[in-house]
Amino acid sequence: MEMNAVLLIAPKKLELGRVPRPACPQGGLLIKMAACSLCATDAKMWHQGHRDLILPRILGHEMAGTIVEVGNGVRGLQIGDRVQIAPGLPCGRCRYCLRGVPNLCQEMRIMGFHHNGGLAEFLAVPAAGVHQGAVNLIPAALSFRVATLAEPLACCINGQEQAVVGPGEHVAIFGAGPIGLLHAQLAYLRGASRVILVEIAPERIALARQGWADEVIDAGDQDPVAAIGELTGGQGVDVAMLACRAIEALEWALAGLAKRGRLCLFSGLRPDQASQALDLNRLHYLEASLVGAYGCTSRQNALALELLAQGRIPGDKLLTHRLPLAEVETGLHLVQNRQGLKITIDCCSAEEKGLFHGS
Ligand SMILES: [Zn+2]
Ligand SMILES: [Zn+2]
Repeated sequence: MEMNAVLLIAPKKLELGRVPRPACPQGGLLIKMAACSLCATDAKMWHQGHRDLILPRILGHEMAGTIVEVGNGVRGLQIGDRVQIAPGLPCGRCRYCLRGVPNLCQEMRIMGFHHNGGLAEFLAVPAAGVHQGAVNLIPAALSFRVATLAEPLACCINGQEQAVVGPGEHVAIFGAGPIGLLHAQLAYLRGASRVILVEIAPERIALARQGWADEVIDAGDQDPVAAIGELTGGQGVDVAMLACRAIEALEWALAGLAKRGRLCLFSGLRPDQASQALDLNRLHYLEASLVGAYGCTSRQNALALELLAQGRIPGDKLLTHRLPLAEVETGLHLVQNRQGLKITIDCCSAEEKGLFHGS
């Protein structure tokens, strides 16, 4: 049997085609995909590739669907369950897995990177995913589309855990795309007393000003470092979260940091800019820290899904575009051009929509 899928054959070469429908893996699950969201990483893979990408590949790692087959030995999950799937397949045995940071697993495999992902009608979830808790039941009130946001939100949770965002803190987020807005809401949930978004694109500034943060600094109009200084009484921010790839933003983030501040590289930089020198003496004098964040864990996914289900993170407000599988490339163009916020893809063929989609 075959299915529709979006395959990345080579950088910039995306194909919608018919591929063999995967079998249910031993000890794993077969999922009928409902929704898969696109993110900047998908756009990056499409355009230039990615460290962890093996081609050809069915892309898509922000996934939700319905279980249609259950492998031998799987407990607690059954056919018909609506589930959100975290894409990481950690080994469960290495030093990092045993230390509770499976996102840094030595043997890490990721659906949509090393294994096929969710931009298809069906998804095979290997046994490792089931064993490591990658599959979360979606509460009845939560739509598939909003449930796909659990993965990016989980990555934000990871970033804020690395940066230890805490009560009463001032947080600046550089980049007001979907990730920046999720970071802003999450920072409030973690008790931040002031959240500042810094953005340069007029459309995104306008969206961010619809109640996503205390302040939105227009970096095209104001010097962000001076503006942060003014907003924090000259102190700077306790946490600067880099949620964009602009090197200038990294400089602003470092310059806007308070004593004992933490600067989190949530986004990677462009490879040719990543080794650019920064004024690291600032870290010395401020006793500040520089931390990185990459991916998320099953625990963070489950927590993210819960926050979305409780309405504590307004996920539905991020969903600006909804496209069929045949229009993934259009969606990736939107992501690339930073138009709208979150683009979700309906993975089912049209006639099955009614059966498998949430609201
Ligand atoms: Zn993503
Ligand atoms: Zn491991």
